[in-house]
Amino acid sequence: MVPHVPTVVIIGRPNVGKSTLFNRLVGKRLALVDDTPGVTRDRREGDATLFDLKFRIVDTAGLEEEAPDSLSGRMRQQTEAALIDADVALMVIDARAGLTPQDRHFARWLRAQDMEVVLLANKAEGKAGDSGLFESFELGLGDPVPISAEHGEGLADLYDALRPLLDPLMPPEEEIGDETEEERDARLAAEPLKLAIVGRPNAGKSTLINTLLNEDRLVTGPEAGITRDSIAIDWEWQGRRVRLIDTAGLRRRAKVVEKLEKLSAADTKHAVDFAEVVVLLLDAKLGLEAQDLRIADMVLQEGRALIVALNKWDAAEDQSRLFQGVRKALDEGLAQIKGVPLLAVSGLTGKGLDLMIKAAFEAREGWSRRVGTSALNRWFEGAIERNPPPAPGGKRIKLRYITQANTRPPAFVIFGNRVDELPESYRRYLVNSLREEVGFDGVMIRLNLRARK
Ligand code: GDP
Ligand code: GDP
Repeated sequence: MVPHVPTVVIIGRPNVGKSTLFNRLVGKRLALVDDTPGVTRDRREGDATLFDLKFRIVDTAGLEEEAPDSLSGRMRQQTEAALIDADVALMVIDARAGLTPQDRHFARWLRAQDMEVVLLANKAEGKAGDSGLFESFELGLGDPVPISAEHGEGLADLYDALRPLLDPLMPPEEEIGDETEEERDARLAAEPLKLAIVGRPNAGKSTLINTLLNEDRLVTGPEAGITRDSIAIDWEWQGRRVRLIDTAGLRRRAKVVEKLEKLSAADTKHAVDFAEVVVLLLDAKLGLEAQDLRIADMVLQEGRALIVALNKWDAAEDQSRLFQGVRKALDEGLAQIKGVPLLAVSGLTGKGLDLMIKAAFEAREGWSRRVGTSALNRWFEGAIERNPPPAPGGKRIKLRYITQANTRPPAFVIFGNRVDELPESYRRYLVNSLREEVGFDGVMIRLNLRARK
């Protein structure tokens, strides 16, 4: 018997990122990626690998240019031809651009086909994709899976969506039982914690990393930016794997001193992109400054879990006042999130570093956490009962239910009526209550409101 390799076809209007996704899954730079919509490309097929899933992938990019506004003619024929042999369709939308009539067209047409569909909201990295992601629930193709084909984000969620569809089609020897949520959590928790330590020059990053690693891999000194090249370092902390990125080396290449600041910002961005959890190191002698807040804000906007560590604690004076002052400045400066974990550490003596790594693992747990819909709605009903939404013009805004749309970071969507009129203060109440009562301490929560159809 010839083992059947499942076939997955990528569908969507031009420029949503089909080719980029194809490349990502095939792992080679096979396809031409272009910013111009409808650049002619042949239908391409390749062997895709997604963790332990192997399947045939077909990209329909290039089939659209004949009839960009409708699904007629050659495009329909070609797309249909691609679909005939396929087991699953990946319907891709551009989360940044939001839904277009053409997306709705594709969705309507796909719903009429007898086939499994996974809806992918691409370009969902950062915050700009949130509204398109939530909008795409409307397509009636199930919960969208947010991904970033370009940055390789969301692939674990794509895996989770594809696996139950492909598993029954896999040859028996490759069959693996359905992964429960606990197993998935265990698998993710076993992956190395991707940690970045950022901060202004001289905050003590290199010294702290040296102490953590307990070896002289990095060169430190009183001068800013003399560490070696940017490297990812794998090590273990109490039997758990940690992957640390150090990009300070990039700064060293800067010959011109004036460029230091700029390069350092780019380094920070690079490290943040890589990380799940970011430790922002402050120099206790300087406290929290505007530049630190900007970095913290960027980390949160990029959807990473944040920890703030007050470094050089060994040299700090009036410790209790200092700590309280920074705590207050943090809560005021980062209005979108209350209670970012704050720790006192010394990279020089090693004080507090164990607690810091422990906090980093905990932050990742909250950041990755998925709460079941029924537990979530139990909290939701209570929160609304204790403090009902306002009634502008005498008509109460009705909030009906909530669901978790994403993890890493957690994102939620609330469906209701007249949600446009909900004041920002009420939304903040919900987010804070969710954080405190459901337990997302120090984690940035994204919340979207959608009018129920
Ligand atoms: P296709 O026409 O659907 O095959 O789209 P392409 O793969 O050619 O991508 C169209 C454009 O979107 C290109 O400029 C890509 O670089 C960009 N793109 C693709 N994936 C992503 C993503 O995940 N995030 C962002 N921001 N851009 C992306
Ligand atoms: P980086 O630029 O952030 O990598 O900072 P470095 O690790 O090179 O440290 C800058 C300066 O701060 C050096 O003179 C270090 O000796 C000093 N330093 C770093 N960590 C500590 C600490 O925990 N306590 C004290 N007292 N000094 C520190």
